[in-house]
Formats: sequence, C-alpha cells, structure tokens
Amino acid sequence: MTSAAAPAQGVPQTELHRHLDVSIRLETLYELGQARGLVTRSTSLAAFRDRIFLREPMADLSSVLDKFTFFPKVLAGPADFERVGFEVAEDCWNEGTRVAELRYSPSFVTAPSGLSWDVALDGFYRGCKRAEAKYPGLRTGLICIASRDFGEEAAAQTVEFYLKNLERFVGVDLAGNEVNFPCRMFEHAFAPAVKAKRGGDKRVHITIHSGEASGPENMWEALELLGAERIGHGIRAVEDPKLVEHLREKNVCLEVCPTSNILTQCAPSYAEHTAARLMRAGVPVSINTDDPGVFAVSLEDEFRHARSDMGFSEADVARCLVSAYEARFV
Ligand SMILES: [Zn+2]
Repeated sequence: MTSAAAPAQGVPQTELHRHLDVSIRLETLYELGQARGLVTRSTSLAAFRDRIFLREPMADLSSVLDKFTFFPKVLAGPADFERVGFEVAEDCWNEGTRVAELRYSPSFVTAPSGLSWDVALDGFYRGCKRAEAKYPGLRTGLICIASRDFGEEAAAQTVEFYLKNLERFVGVDLAGNEVNFPCRMFEHAFAPAVKAKRGGDKRVHITIHSGEASGPENMWEALELLGAERIGHGIRAVEDPKLVEHLREKNVCLEVCPTSNILTQCAPSYAEHTAARLMRAGVPVSINTDDPGVFAVSLEDEFRHARSDMGFSEADVARCLVSAYEARFV
C-alpha cells in the first residue's frame, strides 16, 4: 500500500475535500454510460477519456460544465449510488488515505434521474460502509453540499435535509458559482445549521467553498454569516492580511486543491499557488483532489506537485497531514 504523503508522525492520511460524484472511476463512468445509452458502443475508452478528462486549463466554463454534468447522468438507481460510494472510498484507501471525507450535492446527483434525495444518500452511505468493512482502518464521512446554482430555496431544503440526517452526514457545505451567488445570499438557508452549531450541537460541522474564484470578502461572509469552520479552497485569502491573521488565530483549515485551481484558472501555476505562503503565515492548510474524475489526479499526484512544484519541504507536507487530520469532521 502506498501512502501519498509518507508518514507524518503516525498521523492517518486524511483527505477533506473530494467530490464523490465527480470521482467516479473512468471505467465505471464508461460502463454505466454505455448501459444507459449515453455513450455509443463504437466509442473507445480512450476517446471517452479525452471527452471527460480536463488536461489543460479550461478555455471557457461552458466547455467544462459539459464534463461535470455527465457524471450524475449515469446514476440511475440505488445500486449505482452504492457502487460509486464503495469504489470512491476504495480508491481513497488505495491512495493511502485512512480518513476520507466525501461530499456531494443531493440536488445535483438526482437532477437527471429524478430519484429522491434519500435514495442517493442511502446508496452512497451503504457503499462507504461496505468499503469500511472491507478495509478496516478506513474511516469515511459524507458532507452534504447545498449548490449555489440551484438557488436559495433549494439550499434551504438541502440544509434541512442535512440536519435530518446527522447520523449519516458529517458536515454541510456550500458550493458552485461563488461570483454570481455570494455567501450572503445563503445566510437564511444556513441559519438553522449555524444556530445548531453555535448552540453546541457537536454533530454539526460547516465548510464553505469560498476564496477560490472570488476574493476575501466572500471568505469573511463564509466565516461570519455561514459559520464556516473550514474553507473549501480559500487560496485568495492572501489578498487580505487581516483575514490571514484571523484564519491563523481561529485555526481555520483551508482545503486546498492545487490541480483543480490551475485547471479552472483560479491559480496561474503550481509555482505561483498561494498554499505555501498561507501555510508559512501559520494558516492550517490541507491538500486535496477536489474532482479527480475530471482533473485526473490522485492525492499522490497532489502531494508530488506540492513537493516538486509548490516549494513544500517534507516538514511542510507533514504539517499539511497533521492540519487535515486535526480539522476532520469524521
Ligand atoms: Zn470542491
């Protein structure tokens, strides 16, 4: 068994930010796609790979959206959700990960099929538990995503769904287009979760995608209005020294996803990525894959980039592992 990051004082390798639905194995996506008539029989796996994988920084958002929206189309029944939950958790194990937090949006994964949110959750949860049974030592946790693009009402319903299923979710997230849908738009939707957390309910955990495509103000809103304990990405925090100080002081872990940031053009290159600067400023930084089904990366790849292209020393890598483990919701 390989470990992506090598031992860090015996701390279990932890991945905090991986989108479950966009981590479907290429072969599984291809097989289910053919079974559903979404991929023609004459399409080779190699041609399909070229259609799904994003290898170069995206030229425009619409060309990339087509890749992402393909994934939920293959999830047509309970068995598909369970299979994907199992396989993604198994992939994490095979990358050396021992604590895997996997997230998905109930709205997004059931949009093509019209299945109920309960069917999706039951399937993903069963799959993850099956992986845990096969690989003792693996711990998984599901994070429920409210999708910005589905609007405030759907976000409020998602938070309600999350709070009804606290025994199967370890946290709640807000994701999607943060430029057109800033955090403040979702203050009301997140209020029940924020109230429960601030009221002392230890089961409630909140992480918010912000500071990726938009600037520090969206991160402040995530922290102050939506009760974020962790931030998805947060790489633009460097633009605001007060925010950096706040993250350090409050020990807010950033879920950094280097390859994702480059391919979506939120960071110009590995060398110019802000993760190392933030870490040296004392902000807890974790390294993650985000959407390995489209970005074609493993956690091993991301740690390799951290070491060889982003200026991380072995001590820095070890520190990231400790930060990730300490910030886990599982
Ligand atoms: Zn993400």
